[in-house]
Amino acid sequence: MKPFAYMAAADVQSAVNAAANVNGVNRTNAPDPSAVPLAPVQFLGGGTTLIDLMKLGVMQPTHLVDISRLNDPGLRTVQSNPEGLRIGALATMRQVADDATVKRDYPVLSQSLWLAASQQIRNMAFVGGNVLQRTRCSYFRDTSWACNKREPGSGCSALEGMNRWHAVLGSSEQCIASYPGDWATALVALDATVDTVGPSGPRSFRFADLHRLPGSTPHIETQLQPGELVTAFNVPAGPHTRRSLYLKVRDRESYEFALASAAVALQMDRTNGQLVRQVRIGLGGPVAVPWRAREAEALLIGKVLNEASATAAARAAFAGARTREHNAFRVPLGQQTLVRALLQAQQMEVAA
Ligand code: SF4
Repeated sequence: MKPFAYMAAADVQSAVNAAANVNGVNRTNAPDPSAVPLAPVQFLGGGTTLIDLMKLGVMQPTHLVDISRLNDPGLRTVQSNPEGLRIGALATMRQVADDATVKRDYPVLSQSLWLAASQQIRNMAFVGGNVLQRTRCSYFRDTSWACNKREPGSGCSALEGMNRWHAVLGSSEQCIASYPGDWATALVALDATVDTVGPSGPRSFRFADLHRLPGSTPHIETQLQPGELVTAFNVPAGPHTRRSLYLKVRDRESYEFALASAAVALQMDRTNGQLVRQVRIGLGGPVAVPWRAREAEALLIGKVLNEASATAAARAAFAGARTREHNAFRVPLGQQTLVRALLQAQQMEVAA
């Protein structure tokens, strides 16, 4: 690991200021993130991804700003009201997964966290950092291989290499890496928004706009400015959130990333319980970014939900899939995962 400077920030603004000073930005010259692809400063939260990647030489920040002890109110709490949830970015994965309101009214959020990582990591990792975890592409994590995400313009070793773990939705000719997270799949399904504070001040935007498709710049993974800190997630309430679940299929039952996953939320018609009034679908696993399957949703609204309609929706969800030598199996697997998730959500016992 290369030497780095360390500072612990006391509150959000001092963390953002410290990062801005290192990055050489202020309120009036906040840069296009594409101009600063490898920011020399990183925020250190639970450290469950960052420290690994620093040890591997994949990330080499010159400065770390420790945000794990920020004392701003609301950063560590889960607040609920009739409008929805507000979840502080420094709440731990375990804390949110175990929150009684989240478990009862937004079960897909709780399940996506419980099915992620290990208990030790869930105790350490913050939900804000979780959404920013980096890909598990083995060529990205091994500096002896060419990788456009790690070193722009160097090539993509996965295109002709082992690509079983790579994306079929949203990939590009420059990068076929998959996004590894579970919690983000649930957030994108439930129309969450994200609050941030950066060198240009606070802002709020759709969670679906946080991650960028790889396109020709796979090294730029989000729309965050250098030194911009995620502070909270907002999840709107709705009649679909209680009938929601997260289904994850993986090589082993614990401590493993998704081969395929689906976050679904349903509102069924009150008089005809077979008819879909509202549906939200997020897909994880072979996707370049947290994926919202709007084509599948459109096919289901107002229709009877059964194996046939769920299968048609699942086919639509993967209609744009582009497969490589080793990952074609993830299309039917992803489709079956979505069908199962929809039918299981339909069967859920939901309190009025
Ligand atoms: Fe790098 Fe992306 Fe190619 Fe993996 S798939 S080697 S992360 S460019």
